[in-house]
Amino acid sequence: MQVLVVGAGVVGLAIARTAALRGHDVIVAEATGGIGNGVSSRNSEVIHAGIYYPTGSLRARHSTRGRRMLYEFCASHGVTYRKCGKLIVATDAAELVKVETLLAQGVLNGVEGLEMIGGNAARALESVLACIGALSSPESGIIDSHGYMLALWGELEDRGGSIAFETSVERMSYAAPHWQVQFGGRDAGAVAFDAVVNSAGLGAQALARRIEGYPADKVPPLVLAKGNYFGFAGRPVFSRLIYPTPVDGGLGVHATLDLAGRMRFGPDVEWIDHESYTVDPRRADSFYQRIRAYWPGLPDGSLVPDYCGIRPKLTGPGEKPADFMIAGEPAHGLPRLVNLFGIESPGLTSSLSLAEEVVDYLAV
Ligand SMILES: Cc1cc2nc3c(=O)[nH]c(=O)nc-3n(C[C@H](O)[C@H](O)[C@H](O)COP(=O)(O)OP(=O)(O)OC[C@H]3O[C@@H](n4cnc5c(N)ncnc54)[C@H](O)[C@@H]3O)c2cc1C
Repeated sequence: MQVLVVGAGVVGLAIARTAALRGHDVIVAEATGGIGNGVSSRNSEVIHAGIYYPTGSLRARHSTRGRRMLYEFCASHGVTYRKCGKLIVATDAAELVKVETLLAQGVLNGVEGLEMIGGNAARALESVLACIGALSSPESGIIDSHGYMLALWGELEDRGGSIAFETSVERMSYAAPHWQVQFGGRDAGAVAFDAVVNSAGLGAQALARRIEGYPADKVPPLVLAKGNYFGFAGRPVFSRLIYPTPVDGGLGVHATLDLAGRMRFGPDVEWIDHESYTVDPRRADSFYQRIRAYWPGLPDGSLVPDYCGIRPKLTGPGEKPADFMIAGEPAHGLPRLVNLFGIESPGLTSSLSLAEEVVDYLAV
């Protein structure tokens, strides 16, 4: 089949590469001038173990399976990663109950190696930590996400696929047996495809609304939850990822490490109504307060505004978190069309597994 994938983020690239490996002719249309310019370049670069998500959900299934696939992919394709492990820390009795609930959830999800440790054992691992107990997750890690996307792109091209940059998908309609797709930008014009995957991240809903005949009530709301990061101006004090207990809309302001040896904190949750990528320095106050709950020694003046990303959520504050949405023909009635909605965290971790499910839909 001639397959069009809309969006060269980590998920679109994983889908394109999987489709090409299965013998399809694949074109990726990307509105910007490069790969990973959307949500995929504005995240924590954490390979999640798969602990938090309700058992049986797409997020649980694809993060645990995707994580195993991702480590294998990194090892076989020379992508830099570090399985550094992570601690989810409890600073009081109420948080300890939450962390124990997470342990039970993670075990149900099939996450390997999870273990509760006491406060002293946690401090033996990370000496500056203040906590009364922690969940240790040895399978969690960090990845060079840009290197990963480059490897996906390389494999796509090896199989004859390509990316059209500065080329946006404007609208499309189905005229059996093809999808007629109208492009704008550098490669403007109309082209026919057998199958289309909408992996446009924050643009997925807008594009779905421009698909002729697509049921309007099947386009879910897009809710924007910005996540701000602050860099730490100093040498890292942790050697593994340190997470507090989750908050509404996010996993809590955690300490993340990157492969260049830097430490940063975030993301928080800022509900917004339009895309904006500035980090308000005044948010530092709440960061100091939250981080000092588990690292009381955080020095004054050590946090500097860094970057931010926007989670493409399907539910808002106080609502039950939505699952990933993979809308294939059974969901909307149009053949060989898959729309992906709400691919927020852990989308990077899940990408290789998600890609297989999406490409399976195209064969139906
Ligand atoms: C703050 C934050 C932290 C996160 N941390 C983690 C983490 O640690 N681990 C993890 O596993 N996941 C994490 N995630 C989630 C992860 O980053 C995303 O799930 C993933 O990057 C989504 O990739 P994508 O390809 O769906 O979207 P994107 O990367 O946004 O790609 C979509 C692309 O589509 C293009 N596009 C849009 N409309 C059109 C159009 N009409 N025509 C052509 N192109 C179009 C855009 O330009 C963009 O490049 C985090 C997310 C956020 C926001």
